[in-house]
Amino acid sequence: MVQRNTWQRERVREALSESPGFVSAQALHATLRDEQTGIGLATVYRALAGLAASGDADSLQSPEGEALYRACASEGHHHHLICRSCGRTVEIEATAVETWARQTAEQHGFTEAEHVVDIFGLCAECAQSRAGERDSG
Ligand SMILES: [Zn+2]
Ligand SMILES: [Zn+2]
Ligand SMILES: [Zn+2]
Repeated sequence: MVQRNTWQRERVREALSESPGFVSAQALHATLRDEQTGIGLATVYRALAGLAASGDADSLQSPEGEALYRACASEGHHHHLICRSCGRTVEIEATAVETWARQTAEQHGFTEAEHVVDIFGLCAECAQSRAGERDSG
């Protein structure tokens, strides 16, 4: 019985790694539905939560409060720049943030501090196409 959903989880993992940026469970489910896999939305949610829990996927909250997932190329701690229009994601190091977070925690007597810092914005291409729309409209 435990083995039952393994192929589904593997398929979700594959679909996730084929995505260029962070995706929601619903977006990933739509992709899998197009491929006629018969994987349900609840299974996608479960698989993504499992992948995030085991460290196989990064998860974060969009500014709208939606959970987003990505199979990250980098292992270990890192940050993201995410285009809120097309979802394109750049993995970044943020040395200044690491220093600031550690020092701020120390100043308040905190140890074992962790932080999540992700930057949402418009990528250059999306900014350009929006500017184009403005010019023509
Ligand atoms: Zn990442
Ligand atoms: Zn973009
Ligand atoms: Zn950091």
